[in-house]
Amino acid sequence: MSKKQFKSESKRLLDLMINSIYTHKEIFLRELISNASDAIDKLCFISLTDDKVGLSREDFKINIYADKDSRVLRIEDNGIGMDKDDLDKNLGTIASSGSYRFKQENEKVDDVDIIGQFGVGFYSAFMVADKVEVETKKYGSDTAYVWSSSGADGYTIKETEKDTVGTVVTLRIKEDTENEHYSEFLEQYRISELVKKYSDYIRYPIIMDMTRTKAKEGTEGSDKPEYETVTEKETLNSMVPIWQRPNKDVTTEEYEEFYHNKFMAFDKPARIITTSVEGVVTYKALLYIPSKTPFDYYTKEYKKGLQLYSSGVLIMENCEELLPEHFRFVKGVVDSQDFSLNISREVLQHDHQLKTVANTLEKKIKNELSSMLKKDRETYESFFGEFGRQLKYGIVSDYGMHKDSLKDLLMFPSSNSDKLTTLAEYLDRMPEEQKYIYFATGESAQTIAKLPQAELVLNKGFEILYCTQDIDEFTLQTLAEYNGKQFKSVDSDDLGIEPEKSEDSAEDNADVLKFVRDALGDKVSEVIASKKLLSHPVCMTAKGGISFEMEKYFNAMQPEAGMKAQRCLELNMNHNAVKAMKDLIGKDDEKAKQYAEIFYNQALLIAGLPIDDPSGYADLVCGLM
Ligand code: ADP
Repeated sequence: MSKKQFKSESKRLLDLMINSIYTHKEIFLRELISNASDAIDKLCFISLTDDKVGLSREDFKINIYADKDSRVLRIEDNGIGMDKDDLDKNLGTIASSGSYRFKQENEKVDDVDIIGQFGVGFYSAFMVADKVEVETKKYGSDTAYVWSSSGADGYTIKETEKDTVGTVVTLRIKEDTENEHYSEFLEQYRISELVKKYSDYIRYPIIMDMTRTKAKEGTEGSDKPEYETVTEKETLNSMVPIWQRPNKDVTTEEYEEFYHNKFMAFDKPARIITTSVEGVVTYKALLYIPSKTPFDYYTKEYKKGLQLYSSGVLIMENCEELLPEHFRFVKGVVDSQDFSLNISREVLQHDHQLKTVANTLEKKIKNELSSMLKKDRETYESFFGEFGRQLKYGIVSDYGMHKDSLKDLLMFPSSNSDKLTTLAEYLDRMPEEQKYIYFATGESAQTIAKLPQAELVLNKGFEILYCTQDIDEFTLQTLAEYNGKQFKSVDSDDLGIEPEKSEDSAEDNADVLKFVRDALGDKVSEVIASKKLLSHPVCMTAKGGISFEMEKYFNAMQPEAGMKAQRCLELNMNHNAVKAMKDLIGKDDEKAKQYAEIFYNQALLIAGLPIDDPSGYADLVCGLM
């Protein structure tokens, strides 16, 4: 019987498989098992209405045999099978949708990409086998056939003897080379591992002989157990994925167990979200909101994304497109029959259905967090302690496009109490006459509370949000306002609060301010009579768009850039120390200059900024003492 040639595209794909340098050759098993499962689906469906099939749901299975001596790996199913035409059509040409795409995009991507991205169906067998045989008998047909190929030189189809309906795919596994250890695909433990990894949720049992060492019966618990090697058929897959089981049948412990095993997580999840959607896209999802930051969260090893399954078959370990960046801490799985097994990463990125799923999941997560905040404050606060920074980054990034959806999830320490507050709660407490939502930045709530520039606001009985994280100020700046109320830094000139009347006239002050300005030179950009200081003599505020917190933040990131906020020295003209300096001007200018220098350094210290010459400053103070 003459050899048939593969169709040209198939031949190219096949060549690729045979000479593949792809590192994840192991996926061939997933592909073959999925084909077997699809074939069983088809016959199982027929059996519902056709008694002649003679099999019921429990009879369907996939068997795997591995023999190291003959280097044979065999995957057997009792599915629908193929006739001669099917074999010719299905295994002689590229039939699968993934492979079809490969054909279209072939020119653009390199070999390794193609395999990684598309999965390549049946042909992937040639990555690990130098000869493949497919014995098959189609349901309703009397004749069985064997398709056989050693790769590039084509394939043959012959009649054969086979009693039962279904398909047996036999691979002759390649010899090991210096770089490739193909023999692993003949090892029981390795095969079982691969089934668990990729095909755990195939709906039919995947059965294989497993050899294990066991204590002999009767000797198990004794002092001297006797061991024997036993080979038994085992079902390698767990079949029903936890997310496919009805919510009410699964215990919290089971969900947590799954979370720990699947995602190598050690914490108790703060929330478990299950969802089942039928509509434009039909899918089920099981998501976890962690309660603790994963140890590698801030390293590049941490991968954002959800596991994507198509009818129980893993198609992507980390589907990043399913999660927005600000929820990158969420773990979980999504299973949808609407995604093909062979979908590529590139295609997924623009996939409309995937976007739909991602959008609904984002809303779902957001709602879960909102409800946690409302109903379980303690858990939420602890969650916010772990991942609040991530939510703030979410507000700042993408030009603030997520701010409206995230703003109600924010919490800040504030002058109101030692508890965190949300923006809505702040607004609720706000007196009628208060114009702005005030905030102040600093190392800790304690240091901010003592800031001189906070005094006027606090004295008025107005609340101040304490921005203690570097991202806080950017977050509020991005938000700009909350429900119609603008955010205002206590550093601002115009706090919207009428100050107490100063005893001094503006002209008096002008001379003093000019004197200090001249004394300090370009160390400050401005010296002003403060409208917000009450009991403190001085403070330093930042002018222009850059605040001191930003200066510190950017300088920590990029010291060489030398970012500097404009320094504005504010003097409390009613303070005795300032008055003392005023009296010296014209009488002892040298001493007045020393006072100015001291005020300047004090203001720096209060703002948490480094002073230019610490020992000079110490000498100056001691000299005056
Ligand atoms: P895909 O599975 O993506 O369609 P494959 O190259 O893996 O592409 O398989 C091509 C076709 O061969 C399948 O669509 C199916 O019709 C047929 N086929 C493969 N394996 C089997 C099997 N075990 N039983 C029945 N048909 C099969």
